[in-house]
Amino acid sequence: MLLLKDGHVSDSITHRIQFIQENIRQVAIRIGREPSGIRLVAATKTIAAVNLEEAYRAGVRIFGENRLQEAQEKRQVLGARDGLVWHFIGRMQRRKLKDLVGNYSLLHSVESLEQAESINAVAGKLGIQQPVLLEVNVGEEASKGGFTSQEVEAGIEDLDRFPHLEIQGIMTLPPWMENPEDVRPYFTQVRRLRDRLAQQTWRYVRMTELSMGMSHDYEIAIEEGATMVRIGTAIFGSRRKAVSPDTVG
Ligand SMILES: *Cc1c(COP(=O)(O)O)cnc(C)c1O
Repeated sequence: MLLLKDGHVSDSITHRIQFIQENIRQVAIRIGREPSGIRLVAATKTIAAVNLEEAYRAGVRIFGENRLQEAQEKRQVLGARDGLVWHFIGRMQRRKLKDLVGNYSLLHSVESLEQAESINAVAGKLGIQQPVLLEVNVGEEASKGGFTSQEVEAGIEDLDRFPHLEIQGIMTLPPWMENPEDVRPYFTQVRRLRDRLAQQTWRYVRMTELSMGMSHDYEIAIEEGATMVRIGTAIFGSRRKAVSPDTVG
């Protein structure tokens, strides 16, 4: 199989997925982690439903979408399938929360206390507990949403007051670095934050999950504790047009 280090591939979606899953397994074993503790989320923005079908046949069970409209179209095409779940990995607009809450197994990018409160309110009306992650803007980049590490630490008690949220952990999108090794300190910082929070006892906060790592740095993210990696390009090839990962959905 021909998957090059830079994410360029000369093989089918099926082969790329097999390669990545095997790679995830090998990295896990090398560092003494249980491979099943790392879940592959296929990042599918701009990718056509037919390609998602191939990914599903190759064993992918979690699709992460960034845009609501696009996601709804694809979900209709794919329909309900055994084991298939949908995550939302993009930024969430307030007026779209009513379409997101209850329709996604996990919302990866809660970016503020106010947004958590709004999601809690919508979930409350539905009588559900919505699983979510807190997005941490670890590089404190103006272009990205999310809490700073300090905001999460200072605000966690307030975030633990929402009975209709299950805060399962943290998601991060670190600054883009040419050399993925340079991203490692950001992953480490986020893992330590998660570990500190996990030591305390909370009512609704869980802090077991770490959603971090993309096509070019997922191996390092796994070494640093990722429980979910969000991979697009290495599965589906380059996207039709440049879309910022933080595109508002
Ligand atoms: C697109 C996207 C990814 C995947 O990025 P690739 O570099 O294509 O693997 C991961 N996370 C988020 C939030 C994204 O929007």
